[in-house]
Amino acid sequence: MAIKTQIDWLNHRRTKIIATLGPSSNDEKTIHELLEAGVDIIRLNMSHGTHTDHESTYNIVRKVSSQLKRPVAIFADLCGPKIRTGKFKNDQIELNDNELVTVTTRDILGEPGLIPSQYKALSQDVKINDPILMDDGKLKLQVEAIDGEEITCRIIHGGTLKNHKGINLPGVEVSAPSLTEKDKKDAIFALNMGVDFLALSFVRKAEDIQDLRQLMKENDLDAGIIAKFEKPEALKNASKIIKLINAVMVARGDLGVELSAEEVPVAQRKLITMARDHNCPVIVATQMLESMMETPQPTRAEVSDISQAVITGADAVMLSGETAAGKYPVKTVEMMSRIIHQTEAYMSEDNNFSALERDLSDYDISPFGHAVAHITAELAQQIKVQAILTLSQTGVTAVTISSARPAAHMIAISSDERIYRRMNLLWGTLPILTKEAGTQHPNQLARQIAKETGCAKEGDYIVLIRGFHADTELNTPSVTLITV
Ligand code: PEP
Repeated sequence: MAIKTQIDWLNHRRTKIIATLGPSSNDEKTIHELLEAGVDIIRLNMSHGTHTDHESTYNIVRKVSSQLKRPVAIFADLCGPKIRTGKFKNDQIELNDNELVTVTTRDILGEPGLIPSQYKALSQDVKINDPILMDDGKLKLQVEAIDGEEITCRIIHGGTLKNHKGINLPGVEVSAPSLTEKDKKDAIFALNMGVDFLALSFVRKAEDIQDLRQLMKENDLDAGIIAKFEKPEALKNASKIIKLINAVMVARGDLGVELSAEEVPVAQRKLITMARDHNCPVIVATQMLESMMETPQPTRAEVSDISQAVITGADAVMLSGETAAGKYPVKTVEMMSRIIHQTEAYMSEDNNFSALERDLSDYDISPFGHAVAHITAELAQQIKVQAILTLSQTGVTAVTISSARPAAHMIAISSDERIYRRMNLLWGTLPILTKEAGTQHPNQLARQIAKETGCAKEGDYIVLIRGFHADTELNTPSVTLITV
């Protein structure tokens, strides 16, 4: 693709923005405004809407991104085994502290004192004294007795319970598979449409990822996989899971119910570090600008939260209800973009993102990719390289370099349209799609693209990295210093 306009490198944001689309934002005008405001990745949430709705939104995003010549990635977020209550006769009931209530797995309408659960194995999975949380943890029950399909519970924290609210079972080994029958149908639908990633909810172990890969293989379809970390089991198995995926999502909504809320910031920090150590992009999600669903100004704490995600090196920050169902979807993205810009400007005051430098001192011998990425970032710093270009057919070279968070601009060239879009999730990376990758001489191509994008002019230095491969036997990286 010829690059029509030069990139405004001075305002080039490193941390990417993800927006969830929904009733507030799935029309062409708003999608256009959202992309113009800086959205890099679109999330389609399979927990809401029909396939027809999602297909229409998908087509609009592709149309608008092609008009704007922007490499927007799209992912479908699969619901996973989200456990929910059923419906109530009057759409809601009141739960009073210390009273008893029955949770049943029978398929009935609920009423005062009786809560239907859509999850049939609930009475087999819970034990006496286990907690049952409802409505994002706002309501808390404790199991006192189990009799067939009926679970008698004491109400610990009461309140109003409405139809179809989420149920969380912290500490309980839920027997439902992470990939449900609905997820399988949604995944095949989304993959056939052409999404760039699938996000898998309530991942617990590496096998959950393998199941999704197997489904893709059986259907001869492919996409990157984002694992949503929202269960304590996923944190325990994180190092195995991260090796099999294309991105981590710190899904703080459910994670904050499954763990206690105060454990979430530490889990977020650990996941960011671990993901970067494994060259895996990482997304921080949920309630980032929640108050902007109703008001045009965020709280100071929300602003600080986004800034912290940037300072600790997240690849992307995500908006959920704010853009899907909020009153100010475009203003919210503009606000997020301004917060990121301001924080990144502070972080690179010394022309460096030194706070994000990876600590390699823990390794006796550094992983190969980490070492090359580190040296490349240093080289770029030492001799004022204008840009680091990667030539990537699988995206491995681009993610390897991006994980080092170099201050020089990063351009990731590919001739594969799907890889081109996937690479838009990577910190600081501008993906470029060109048929000439693989045909033209790489050094020549790098010079040409550096000039076309306006990141370097005659006489400037650029660095070209190519040859990283996930298979170590095929791993033949090279670093070439080029004068434009
Ligand atoms: C979350 O729980 O934080 C999350 C992103 O998942 P969902 O929006 O699907 O609940």
